[in-house]
Amino acid sequence: MDSKWNHFYKKPFQKRLDLIAEEAGLTPDQLDLIKQQFSQPSGQVIENYVTDFGLPQGVAVGVVVNGHSHLVPMVTEEPSVIAAASNGSRLLAAGGGIQAEVASQLTGGQIIIKNGAFSQLRAFVADHQAEMIEIANDSHPSILSYGGGAKRLSVRQLDSTFTSIDLMVDTGEAMGANMINTMLEALSNWLRNQMNAEITMAILTNYADEAVVHVSGKVPLAQLATQSMSGQVVGQRIVDASQVAQLDFRRAATHNKGIMNGVDAATIAFGNDWRAVESAVHSYAARTGAYKGLSTWQMSDKDLIGQMDLPVPIGFVGGANKVLPLVAINKQIAAIHNTQEEMALIAAVGLAQNLAALKALVTEGIQKGHMNLQLKSLALSNGAQDFELPQVINQLRQLKNPDSRAVKQILKTIRR
Ligand code: NDP
Repeated sequence: MDSKWNHFYKKPFQKRLDLIAEEAGLTPDQLDLIKQQFSQPSGQVIENYVTDFGLPQGVAVGVVVNGHSHLVPMVTEEPSVIAAASNGSRLLAAGGGIQAEVASQLTGGQIIIKNGAFSQLRAFVADHQAEMIEIANDSHPSILSYGGGAKRLSVRQLDSTFTSIDLMVDTGEAMGANMINTMLEALSNWLRNQMNAEITMAILTNYADEAVVHVSGKVPLAQLATQSMSGQVVGQRIVDASQVAQLDFRRAATHNKGIMNGVDAATIAFGNDWRAVESAVHSYAARTGAYKGLSTWQMSDKDLIGQMDLPVPIGFVGGANKVLPLVAINKQIAAIHNTQEEMALIAAVGLAQNLAALKALVTEGIQKGHMNLQLKSLALSNGAQDFELPQVINQLRQLKNPDSRAVKQILKTIRR
């Protein structure tokens, strides 16, 4: 690597930009754009900061959770996601809204030990449980003042070589990645001294089966009727789709991606680590050894009933929560006041999103609803200006295969 990149992180903003501009041949206009998006707080969040990458943010409306109607800020680059979240929420609101219950809120971590005799380790941890919990809490004492703290330790044999000591912690209002890692390192040092154990690593686990929200909701069947299908038929087709996601991992992957369209968009808007949520959700979906759809839908005489258990390992404080100014505004818009309300709302959006996607899939198909927004994206990405959009979209709609060539041709014609 050329030495000019050495200590890039220490260089002032303008110097970083000069280096990148020279390397990539950026024009003054491109540099201006990068500078316009510069934000002082963001520079404190990541290394080698250059600019903010803007993603569109919208707001889903009428998301009724535990009797309260919420607006939900959502950050996404995908057309139709926010419309679908609002649509699914409207259907569920007709059945009384979504019920959400945070079953537990513990974060886990593990110490991986190599060549330690499993039964000896298990007995050791059982004998020293209280002492080890105290060591964990002493390494991050403030957590006790927030009402949390290390809760329990257990030991799992992974194979004949490796053993995992699992630590579960109530991390209060924080997601807790940093505090758990601190606790695990303190415990590792102590274990090394006590047992001469060979410790391979000590780290948080993103498997979050003790940070699960149970969400459920129902839709009166009449609400599901379309021009060509009765509510009963649509309901049954959604039940069938839900069953297929239990049977087939290929379908389950897409079923769950639809849920994550809403979950990620809200998680990002609330300044949380969406990779941690993704990791928790997909590992949870595979917890039985087979990857399955996370939500299930059933029918009673009158209603379509959906439910889902979703891990949502997030925090109301910590991470980028305080640093990014939009996060506080988004929480105010959503009228959420603590981690559990945030977890509940994110999981609820996931259920609403899932319902809207399934309904579209089993009725008119997904493309029709997407089409307007897709055509808009197609037009914009091929150079159409805002004022040209109605005309371009209108003409694209008449075509069997609207594509970039067609946009360029239409623009040529209307700009003559
Ligand atoms: P922080 O360490 O930023 O924040 C937690 C801190 O917030 C606590 O240590 C405490 O500090 C303070 N705090 C204030 N009020 C409370 C309260 N009521 N309850 C609990 N803590 C409170 O964040 P996290 O440890 O939560 O880490 C989150 C970030 O870690 C994520 O955003 C992610 O980017 C990153 N991360 C994720 C990993 C993963 O998922 N595998 C791994 C490593 C990092 P004080 O004692 O000073 O008051």
